[in-house]
Amino acid sequence: TALIGSVAFILMVKERTDREVLHLAMTDSLTGVPNRRALMDQALHVMAQRGGRPMSLLMIDVDHFKRINDTLGHPAGDEVLRRVTQLLAERLRGGDAIGRYGGEECCVIAPNTDIRGALTLAESLREIVAATPISTEAGEISITISIGISCCPSDTVRELKDLLADADTALYAAKDAGRNRVVSSCNC
Ligand code: GH3
Ligand code: MG
Ligand code: MG
Repeated sequence: TALIGSVAFILMVKERTDREVLHLAMTDSLTGVPNRRALMDQALHVMAQRGGRPMSLLMIDVDHFKRINDTLGHPAGDEVLRRVTQLLAERLRGGDAIGRYGGEECCVIAPNTDIRGALTLAESLREIVAATPISTEAGEISITISIGISCCPSDTVRELKDLLADADTALYAAKDAGRNRVVSSCNC
């Protein structure tokens, strides 16, 4: 009985450790949201499950983020990233997924969301961030974000890499147009 108990205990500990390791491997340590790998897995899952329903992808980048690091220091920059990600995550619906895509870039996958819904969502994310001063140890600052949108309209099939490329192009157009704005790559 003692041996069986010990083996059961070891298996239980191993299972918990495996779960923790998997969670760490899929989570961005700074912001606590899924990392790029986990987000891409989630995007592929959504695409496989969507049937004929639309879906949208938002690429979000903090405006002039380098200035924040340069003027207030890296820890303040880190705090801004944590807080912005939290603001974005709080606004999303249950089925939406957010993840950290790159340095200061986040990506949102919005299942069952057409271009009109994606524009509404993106505009509200932009407004929330612009309207919320962020407290850092170096003081309170206001920041803005730019957002590029790509979409899979109803009854069309697209590849994830194309959605990412289109959202990225739209994001650059938003930067070129002056930042603190939303641009869509969809003409559907
Ligand atoms: P733009 O408006 O064109 O986006 O200007 P930008 O200054 O935000 O330009 P860019 O996207 O090139 O700069 C990203 C900066 O983000 C550069 C990099 O040092 C910083 N960065 C990336 N990851 C982190 C991080 O984890 N913490 C901090 N503090 N800074 C980061
Ligand atoms: Mg930036
Ligand atoms: Mg960037």
